[in-house]
Amino acid sequence: MNEVFKKLKPYLDKSMAIGSALALISWDNETLAPKEAIDNTAKVIGILSGESFQTLINPEVKKILDELKGETDLSDFEKKVFEKLYKEYKKMESIPTEEYIKFSELTTKAGSVWQKAKAENDFNLYAPYLKEIIAYTKKFAAYQNSDGKKLYDVLLDEYEEGFTMDVLDEFFSKLKAEIVPLLAKVDEKNDEIDKSFIFKSYDIEKQRSFNRWLAEYVGFDFGRGVLAESEHPFTNGSHNHDVRITTHYYENNLESAIFSTIHEAGHAIYEMGIDDKYTQTILGGGTSCGTHESQSRFFENMIGRSEKFWEPIYGKLVELFPEQLQDVNLEKFILGINKAEPSLIRVESDELTYCLHIMVRYEIEKLFIENEVDVYELPKIWNEKYKEYLGIQPKTDSEGILQDIHWSMGSVGYFPSYALGNAFAAQMYHQMKKDIPVDSLLKEGKLEPIVSYLGEHVHKYGASKEAMNILKDMTGESFNVDYYITYLKDKYTKLYNL
Ligand code: ZN
Repeated sequence: MNEVFKKLKPYLDKSMAIGSALALISWDNETLAPKEAIDNTAKVIGILSGESFQTLINPEVKKILDELKGETDLSDFEKKVFEKLYKEYKKMESIPTEEYIKFSELTTKAGSVWQKAKAENDFNLYAPYLKEIIAYTKKFAAYQNSDGKKLYDVLLDEYEEGFTMDVLDEFFSKLKAEIVPLLAKVDEKNDEIDKSFIFKSYDIEKQRSFNRWLAEYVGFDFGRGVLAESEHPFTNGSHNHDVRITTHYYENNLESAIFSTIHEAGHAIYEMGIDDKYTQTILGGGTSCGTHESQSRFFENMIGRSEKFWEPIYGKLVELFPEQLQDVNLEKFILGINKAEPSLIRVESDELTYCLHIMVRYEIEKLFIENEVDVYELPKIWNEKYKEYLGIQPKTDSEGILQDIHWSMGSVGYFPSYALGNAFAAQMYHQMKKDIPVDSLLKEGKLEPIVSYLGEHVHKYGASKEAMNILKDMTGESFNVDYYITYLKDKYTKLYNL
């Protein structure tokens, strides 16, 4: 190990340890912690976040980083760690510690207020918190902005390097131009598709056992992971040997938990597939939000909603719910789980309309970051955009602007990576089908070669390889949205017999 790098190690280790503790506390907060604990837990999170911040942002670390800049004999690993930390350092250094602590406390509290506001359909309860979060986000983006970029571009870059408003405006306009007419054709035939069987009554205990089995079937390793329940399904992990996912069960919706579980398992499989040499280092997570989302959406949609995937396992579901699925053959089931129609809830939306939901959020974020806007006006703007793009309007804010957790956590600029993730996944899938016999593997119930293929091209690198390079080395070309559009067109033309 390089002698200068060695001096950095204790700081990195301490930061990792606090980070792991914080991950566990936030996991607990969303799953098991009693509601009344929140104010006290927020205090603990605030103190630990401050500690974590000061562990890496201090004059000693700055001195070591400056020394490392001149070092020429760093190993690849050391160089990657240095580059990532240096970038992070520059960003964190720009934010005053007290503000950072206050912001952490604010977002922890906002999380529980958001939950209450959503449950009680009361946007006014949440609005003051959202207003403050937006103000902090703009302030922090301005601190980081050293080269005169637009503030929303600074935020976007944090989640997906290189993707600016210019790129995204073009991306969304292309999607909109192609998807809206396709959706119209699809919607005309929707009367022919009956998916009412999905909304019959399904015993939650039985759903639990099926979902646990399903997670393992797609490749989730219970020796390294936990599956729990939360209001909004998510993945959170300390490292590749401890990955936590959640799902959410509804008695009157069979598909909701199934596809949340497969989605989060896709995130977890990515984390679990990272090479052990990166475990408990700052390279030990996924490389970008879009890449992470490409893995979850790949498992959820490209694999998880395909007929080949269900062929060997559908019988198991029917065995569990013989009455509810009595008249539902595999073909009817596949049509049901792929039915595409305008809807209000992003996480429940189908593949075809999904990006339109993201486009609404993208445009609203762009608006409140780039312009002055009254937060109390946001529900109205939200509803108008739904009307314009999806042709329907939410009746309550709970099924409108209050549906997502992200802004309450201070994640602004994150949503577009969901859309990009789908497009990355389609490009990867196109290549995968050239390299391995995906359909016959699925038919035989052999998921392992698919997981290994992604492990080899995507997962093992952790954060040591940039998203763009992963895509390029894997598929031989740069990001190309056309694969996604072609994938959707082919899939829905065939499904709907267009
Ligand atoms: Zn996800």
